[in-house]
Amino acid sequence: MDVKRMFSDYVLNTYTRTGPVFVKGKGSFLWDDKGKKYLDLFPGWGVDVLGHSHPRLCKVLSEQGKKLIHIPNNLYHPNQALLAREIIKKSFKGKVFFANSGAEAVEGALKLARIYGKKNKHKNPEIICMRNSFHGRTMGTLSLTAQKKYQDPFKPLLTGVKTAKFGDFKDLKNKITKKTAGILLEPIQGEGGVNLASKEYFQKVKDLCKKNKIMLIFDEVQTGMGRTGAIFCYQNYGIEPDAFTLSKGLGGGFPISALVIKDKHKGLLGPGMHASTFGGSPLATRVSLEVFKVIQQEQLLRNAKKQGKVLEEKLSEFKDIFGIVKDIRGKALMWAMDLNIASKPVFQELFKKGVILNSTQMTVLRIMPALNIDTKTLTQGLNALQKVLRKFQG
Ligand SMILES: *Cc1c(COP(=O)(O)O)cnc(C)c1O
Repeated sequence: MDVKRMFSDYVLNTYTRTGPVFVKGKGSFLWDDKGKKYLDLFPGWGVDVLGHSHPRLCKVLSEQGKKLIHIPNNLYHPNQALLAREIIKKSFKGKVFFANSGAEAVEGALKLARIYGKKNKHKNPEIICMRNSFHGRTMGTLSLTAQKKYQDPFKPLLTGVKTAKFGDFKDLKNKITKKTAGILLEPIQGEGGVNLASKEYFQKVKDLCKKNKIMLIFDEVQTGMGRTGAIFCYQNYGIEPDAFTLSKGLGGGFPISALVIKDKHKGLLGPGMHASTFGGSPLATRVSLEVFKVIQQEQLLRNAKKQGKVLEEKLSEFKDIFGIVKDIRGKALMWAMDLNIASKPVFQELFKKGVILNSTQMTVLRIMPALNIDTKTLTQGLNALQKVLRKFQG
């Protein structure tokens, strides 16, 4: 069976696929169809927070699958209620809307901000996003993904969108008008190259929103579910947004997303105003509940911080030894190494050696291991990276 040939014959070519054909995964490891083992330090682009095929996820997938996979959202089932309660217990008094992908959750947030703006600000409300942001590929979320390469081919986009510089409070303040209904940002920019802003910045943004009755929306699709050492990243900054989104790690590999909104905004989206056919199915919500349980029982927030230190120390060492390493940025298990050279050849060379990272924004290598990775496995991957960096350093 020539899988790659079938891809080129039948699958629309929207991805730059690379490497062998993978057939199996367990924890932080993947195996190809020839039996070669790979260490995956970027499992599922941040999705597989428990690594590949975690036994407890396999168990609930099978058990719940036999009981009930899907019913429509005009009927009740326990799992959606249990998962909503779990998310609210871990965030703030509020309500949850379930969908299937990151973009779909952010779309819900955009509709929420529109309605909020129309009621409280202006008949043509505006929303502000950040330069180098990433919120998804639908027309709505693309309109707030302020990167030329993604937007230009699909113009015209949504109107009423402004862009500010991430981390620059003055710039954001200057973009506010009486029409501004919402500010949408990632607490740490992921796809944009792991860009961080200070706690003070977020606190000032929160104050600004409060003073001007602007809805503060965090896109936690990538940063949520323990990635940054807190279950939700905003908790690192001592503030609360009006709404936030979750997806990637929420189902540990099974598709599910959520929009979480504060109770005071719950009246904005009522019956018939928003929906998703598959959103919050018995199967998806059962799997997600198990992800929360495993994170708690295996103390994975603690492990994310612990292994994050190992990662940070090693990356700082690389920055000291290798001139090609320009900058390192990150928190807990979300890291980037910015190079003075193109990152893709480094990614490819490391891939050949059996270690998988991610290359983004031309010069950035991203590392986002599973939250349950151990020091030995992580160190094994970082030692391989060190060898490859040495080779490129020349
Ligand atoms: C990946 C990502 C999205 C898009 O998620 P999809 O499931 O691909 O639609 C949105 N926002 C952020 C911050 C992301 O990292």
